[in-house]
Amino acid sequence: EAQLPQREAALIARRDGVLGASYRLHYRRPVHFLRGEGMWLYDPDGRAYLDFYNNVPSLGHCHPEVNAAMAEQAGRISANTRYLEPRLVDYAERLVATFPPELDRVVFTCTGSESNDLALRIARLVTGNEGVIVSNYAYHGTSAAVAAVSPNLGDAVMLSPNVRMVTLPGPAGIPDAQAADYFQAQVRAAITDLNRRGIGVAALLFDSIFSSDGVWVDPPGFIAGGVDAVRAAGGLVISDEVQPGFGRTGAHMWGFERHGVVPDLVTLGKPMGNGFPIGAVVGRHAAMDRFGTTARYSNTFAGNTIGIATADAVLTILQRDQIPQNAFAMGLRLRAGLERLAKQRPGIRAIRNAGLFFGVDMGTESMAPAARRAMAQDVVNALRDDGVLVSTTGANEDALKVRPPLICQAEHVDLFLAAVDRVLIRIGTARP
Ligand code: PMP
Repeated sequence: EAQLPQREAALIARRDGVLGASYRLHYRRPVHFLRGEGMWLYDPDGRAYLDFYNNVPSLGHCHPEVNAAMAEQAGRISANTRYLEPRLVDYAERLVATFPPELDRVVFTCTGSESNDLALRIARLVTGNEGVIVSNYAYHGTSAAVAAVSPNLGDAVMLSPNVRMVTLPGPAGIPDAQAADYFQAQVRAAITDLNRRGIGVAALLFDSIFSSDGVWVDPPGFIAGGVDAVRAAGGLVISDEVQPGFGRTGAHMWGFERHGVVPDLVTLGKPMGNGFPIGAVVGRHAAMDRFGTTARYSNTFAGNTIGIATADAVLTILQRDQIPQNAFAMGLRLRAGLERLAKQRPGIRAIRNAGLFFGVDMGTESMAPAARRAMAQDVVNALRDDGVLVSTTGANEDALKVRPPLICQAEHVDLFLAAVDRVLIRIGTARP
């Protein structure tokens, strides 16, 4: 493998010295970016990398209209939500209008973790219960309370004794026709155990695209029975839309719509400000107002005028430019292309997607899990060397995680597919 240039090696040494071990880098040969524009990121030598990984800049890197709205507001006033300001209310109304009518209140946050943290507080206060049901490889964020319901972190010590994990039908190999029953049975077993120990169920918390479990989207509706079971047991239903939200799943604005359920609380983050840190909890007024009157919630930066102006511009562009519809169309094109490749070359075992969020299982049926994982890592690194950015996901980290900005066009999809084809030919000969 090519050695790292001195410039990057020196920067990595300084990072390690001051930032320490929690600051991991992508890739065997980490990339160094100075500039972004649309679908592209540029390194110091001006080399362009096609971004098929970053889901925060949904509208593309450094969108000029979003940036103009942000800068304009920064030059006017940066204030918090304790003062009257019409744009906060305008945006809140427009955001809530994108949800089913039952979801009629919004509280702002700064990150996805804060959104989930707040949703759990609301669920626990409203239900009087403590238990939380999540999927086996769920990730819901970084605060102590949400890390405690994030088995994906692999930190058994930190996991709450009040959390119960459920296996998804897809990774368990359950046929589609039995998927809903299987999921409901898992949720019921978790509820029974929580009740037996006097913990009770506060919430079923799920990422509606199950991204960190490996992107398990099908069959649509498989979560509905689990949702009913939790409600019957007195718990709330929280859809974590940090990954799937704002049109990522194509056609739908929110991932839960694909499953035909209406949650009690919905948590937002990542693409909401196209890079500016802003998130929210949207919910039913019964729960939200009960929390608002009984508990105290104030958040210095959440809902500040700059974040709102930025998110407002993002929502305007998302709707005006029909970005979710584009995600749907490009998702179809990408899926068709990957299916074609899977027939031509060994190494693509399965393709799962909703809109522009893909999990692409790497390896052949005869490969052991470790070999599949190694192949996925080889593909990710080879794509990076070819100037294309993706990563991995799933229990075994052997699925490519592909989630380009939603402005992606046919030409980008075709460039990506050509790169995957080249890489599979290369890897295929190296690792038969
Ligand atoms: N929920 C999900 C499903 C996520 O993927 C993430 C971040 N990867 C979070 C919550 C946490 O969001 P943040 O990093 O903005 O706190």
